[in-house]
Amino acid sequence: MIINGKQIAQNLKEQMREQVAALSAQYGRKPCLNVIIVGENPASLSYVKSKIKASEYCGFDGELIQLPETTTQDELLRIIRESNEKDNVDGILVQLPLPKHINEQYVINAIAPEKDVDGFHPTNVAKLWLNQQTIVPCTPLGIITLLEHSGTPLEGRHAVVVGRSNIVGKPMAKLLLDKNCSVTIAHSRTANLASICRDADILIVAVGRPQMITADMVKPGATVIDVGINRTSDGKLVGDVDFESVAPIAGAITPVPGGVGPMTITMLMQNTIEIFIQRNNK
Ligand code: NDP
Repeated sequence: MIINGKQIAQNLKEQMREQVAALSAQYGRKPCLNVIIVGENPASLSYVKSKIKASEYCGFDGELIQLPETTTQDELLRIIRESNEKDNVDGILVQLPLPKHINEQYVINAIAPEKDVDGFHPTNVAKLWLNQQTIVPCTPLGIITLLEHSGTPLEGRHAVVVGRSNIVGKPMAKLLLDKNCSVTIAHSRTANLASICRDADILIVAVGRPQMITADMVKPGATVIDVGINRTSDGKLVGDVDFESVAPIAGAITPVPGGVGPMTITMLMQNTIEIFIQRNNK
């Protein structure tokens, strides 16, 4: 089975659009998401455009704040603080990566935790690990939603997450733990990666390297979630999994494109709505 992330994301966005219309009538204003981008990295520009398009589709207000590559860290922090203070702004997102002269952690720390739609602020990360209500990072949240929509049982299963970044691997492992999976986190120093992967009922790969996972590394019938986004030399978008060889033996698999990517953006919309509701009920 190919897990159609694009379709699931579209269905969810349609529901959110209706929810936003009702919420706007109830509270007298629309949810508002501000997206900030520094520089002109083509991949980042394309992600930002998709986020704005989804936010318009869902009926949000919002602003795309496009800043030149030469923007200083102080200037960016000042703009974030302005958005923090605006009562009508619910969510703030700064597109990563940032130019090298800007410290990403300072930027993440500057976003008000209650407006941090990405769930990257240390306060939100800590709350996630302490099982307190918080804003959950969009990619792992999108993957859990995909697994649930595809009917993949989670409780008691062995999940292997390849990759341990703060934005994908680690929160992914935590969410799977919360669903009562037994979780193994693998990384670049993992010995015997192939045998660990072969033991996975659910294999989630977030490395950023094409052909990282081949058919000999997958247990027949496993659910395989490919988070990776890579460009081949001829410009084709591919994941970390060798889809051609793995799809015939996997029980379920996400394609790239059309798997995890659309869900990440949809969860961003969901987080914005949740923040909007919370801020209106304070
Ligand atoms: P990072 O570069 O931060 O992390 C990559 C991880 O892969 C690291 O933990 C690294 O291990 C591990 N790794 C590297 N080489 C190997 C190896 N040979 N064997 C096992 N593990 C290895 O990347 P991100 O987590 O930010 O992103 C991962 C991929 O997911 C990228 O392609 C990115 O573009 C994509 N992505 C996709 C999203 C979507 O919506 N579809 C959203 C976010 C990311 P170590 O820690 O030891 O260095």
